Amino acid sequence: MKGHVARKRFGQNFLIDQAIIGAIVSSIDPQRGDTVVEIGPGLGAITEPLLARLDHLHVVEIDRDLIARLKKQYPPARMSIHEGDALAFDFASIGRDLRLVGNLPYNISTPLLFHLAEYVSIVRDMHFMLQKEVVERMVAEPGESDFSRLSVMLQYRFHLEWLIDVPPESFDPPPKVQSAVVRLIPKDVAELTAKSQEKLAQVVQTAFSQRRKMLRNTLKGTLNDAGFAELGIDPTWRPEDVAVADYVRIANYLT
Ligand code: SAM
Repeated sequence: MKGHVARKRFGQNFLIDQAIIGAIVSSIDPQRGDTVVEIGPGLGAITEPLLARLDHLHVVEIDRDLIARLKKQYPPARMSIHEGDALAFDFASIGRDLRLVGNLPYNISTPLLFHLAEYVSIVRDMHFMLQKEVVERMVAEPGESDFSRLSVMLQYRFHLEWLIDVPPESFDPPPKVQSAVVRLIPKDVAELTAKSQEKLAQVVQTAFSQRRKMLRNTLKGTLNDAGFAELGIDPTWRPEDVAVADYVRIANYLT
């Protein structure tokens, strides 16, 4: 691995499968002037082919050894290196119309997705490699056991598309899980009908805090039976039965 020992704590599984790397870059289809931001460039598996098609690339990386390598390899005119934790990074500091990409560290992928979802208004699209189970949760439909807080909060803001399945052998070291590449495209502002994003986030979080319980119980003190009746929502439903649009209606009713 080019003299680098993979660090588990940084979720380092480096892509080595050229066919998969090619398929990821083709699905991103970078154009010269695009503002592309790669999260976790690592040893450059996707970085290199991305840069071949771009004037400039932004990267966010936490591992100092990898940052030192990147600095040696790429001049500042080609690459802006943002050193630090992507979870705390302010992506708005880079600009607008961002294209976010990355083979994300699986140990922080869910909190990272929630963080990135906050930037929906300045993002053109996102392409991420994730643990397959996480992608299953992202795209799950109401009524399915994988339908979760992550599904609602991402599907509210983005159109999601499952692109590529990736087996463990495509990485070094191989992860213990299957992986998949997913595309997220922000919805039109007109489609985002929640009066308050905070209220929506709060209702969804409360509902899924006890996923086996009925809404009547989890939303007790927030939404009474008259409220349920007015909204036409069955209070005996469990959080995974409620469509995204119904979460928005509940939140708007309470706003
Ligand atoms: N892109 C490379 C590839 O595909 O081979 C590396 C992918 S590896 C799964 C995840 C990368 O994210 C590593 O380079 C790791 O150091 C970096 N990373 C881990 N945690 C991070 C964090 N909190 N913020 C920024 N980068 C992080």
